[in-house]
Amino acid sequence: MIRVLFDVDETILSLEPGINRDASAVMFKKVFHVDTHEEIIDNVGKTEMGIIQEVLEKVGVRQPVTEQESFFTEISDEAYKIWAQATADELETRPPRVLPGILELLTALSKNPLIQLELLTGGSYWRAEEKLKSVSLDKFFRDSNSNQLRGAFGNMADRRDNLFDIAAQQASPEDRFVIVDDSLIGARMAKEHNIPVLMVATGKATEQELRPFTRHVFPDFGDNRWQEAVKIITKQ
Ligand SMILES: [Mg+2]
Repeated sequence: MIRVLFDVDETILSLEPGINRDASAVMFKKVFHVDTHEEIIDNVGKTEMGIIQEVLEKVGVRQPVTEQESFFTEISDEAYKIWAQATADELETRPPRVLPGILELLTALSKNPLIQLELLTGGSYWRAEEKLKSVSLDKFFRDSNSNQLRGAFGNMADRRDNLFDIAAQQASPEDRFVIVDDSLIGARMAKEHNIPVLMVATGKATEQELRPFTRHVFPDFGDNRWQEAVKIITKQ
C-alpha cells in the first residue's frame, strides 16, 4: 500500500491571517495564564507540542529543556483541545480556503484501492480535525472502522521528524510512503528519511527554496497539475 502523508496548513487549506495566532492566544491564556501567542516564534512546520514548549520558554514560564527531556514533555490533552475549540470558533465565521486542485487530488487518490490517505501535520489531532471538518475534507482521512483520522499529529511529538517515525510505526514493512507538504521543515524531514516528496509552494517557502529537496515542486495543484501529482504518487 502507498501511504500518502498530507500536511494541513498551507498544503490542503489556508487560514485567514490571524486565526492561528488568536486561537493560540486563547489557549495560552486559559491553560498557562500568559498573554502570548504562537507567532512570537518561527512556528512554520513545527508541532503543537514543540510550539507550546518553545513559546513558554521564550516568555520565561518554562526552563529550556535538553533535547532528550523535551521529547518526553507532557502537555495535557486539555491544552490541545482548548486550542482546537478556539480555532473552530474562529473558523465558523471565517472558513479556510481549500487550496487549488486539492479536492480533485484527494478525490482521485481516494479512488485508488492501493492508496491510503493519511495526515502528517504539526497540528494536534483535534485542531487538524476542526480545520478539515470546516471544509468537509475530513472524510478522506477517516478510518472506515474507527472513524478516527489516520496519521501522526502535533500532539504526539515535539519535532516533525519524530512524527514520521510515528507514522512509520503504524505501517506494515511492505508499505511505502509519499509526503505532500509546503514547508522547509517538511522537505528536510522527507529527505532525511529518504521518502519521496511532493512539495507545493502554497506556503511561506518558494519554489526556488523547495527545489533542492525534490524535483517534484508544484506552484499549487490547480490548472490540472493535480493529475501530474497523481501520476507521480501512483508510480512510487
Ligand atoms: Mg504546512
